[in-house]
Amino acid sequence: MKVLETIDLTVSYKKVPAVWGVDFHVPQGSFVGIIGPNGSGKSTLLKACVGLLPLSSGSLNYFEGKTLKESRKRIAYLPQRESIDWDFPINVLDVVLMGCYPKLGLFRSPGRAETRLADLCLDKVGMLDFRSRQISELSGGQQQRVFLARALAQQAELYMLDEPFSAVDAKTEATILEVIADLKKQGKSIVVVHHDLFSVAKNTDLALLLNTRRVNFGPTSEMMTKENLEETYGGQLESFAHVLFESAKQ
Ligand code: ADP
Ligand code: MG
Repeated sequence: MKVLETIDLTVSYKKVPAVWGVDFHVPQGSFVGIIGPNGSGKSTLLKACVGLLPLSSGSLNYFEGKTLKESRKRIAYLPQRESIDWDFPINVLDVVLMGCYPKLGLFRSPGRAETRLADLCLDKVGMLDFRSRQISELSGGQQQRVFLARALAQQAELYMLDEPFSAVDAKTEATILEVIADLKKQGKSIVVVHHDLFSVAKNTDLALLLNTRRVNFGPTSEMMTKENLEETYGGQLESFAHVLFESAKQ
């Protein structure tokens, strides 16, 4: 089953396309990596998929024919770090409880069951000891883990994570990868925007190479070619990418 499919998707800001005619899909139980240089439309694509931006043209298909409205509760979204106000006065537990709201409905406030779920999710990302802390008082990696816990508390089927590995330490990266592996075991699907080509090559099942347009999409092992990466990154192709496809040849 495809939990998400984009068909000829175009998303524009003031009539200038940031994502242009993109087709890709997320099979159930898969881990999909999205890579591309800065400004290539990765965040725009994710936002459009979760309904935060209108489509200019094309369409989105959720869970084999469901609309976004019917699917909203089944999709969790982790925004890019930069778009979150980390000075906002809110503590860790309340951030995670926000993940429970889609299921709670409008007029119910979180009770004991939700708090238990929130604590479980905090424990999963190793942040239970910090549940009463203000989010402004955490390190970048800790903040990222709290927001991952919020996404987990949503108990979704599709997780859309925008650069969850940015500004995190090695321990946090390992924790996030463990959480993703665990989600996959439960048959859930994960889409991650990621800068580290090595990590994408090593961990994901499918890769979407994006540069406003889709450069290529398919099994990750087939995507990491010199041609694909050069077309994706153009002159910006970092030297580590060269190392990557040189080592892949051996
Ligand atoms: P990425 O996540 O790959 O770095 P983005 O999706 O954030 O790229 O941005 C894609 C393009 O859209 C960039 O050229 C960026 O400047 C532009 N863009 C992003 N957000 C806005 C916005 N709110 N208004 C106008 N242009 C935007
Ligand atoms: Mg981005």
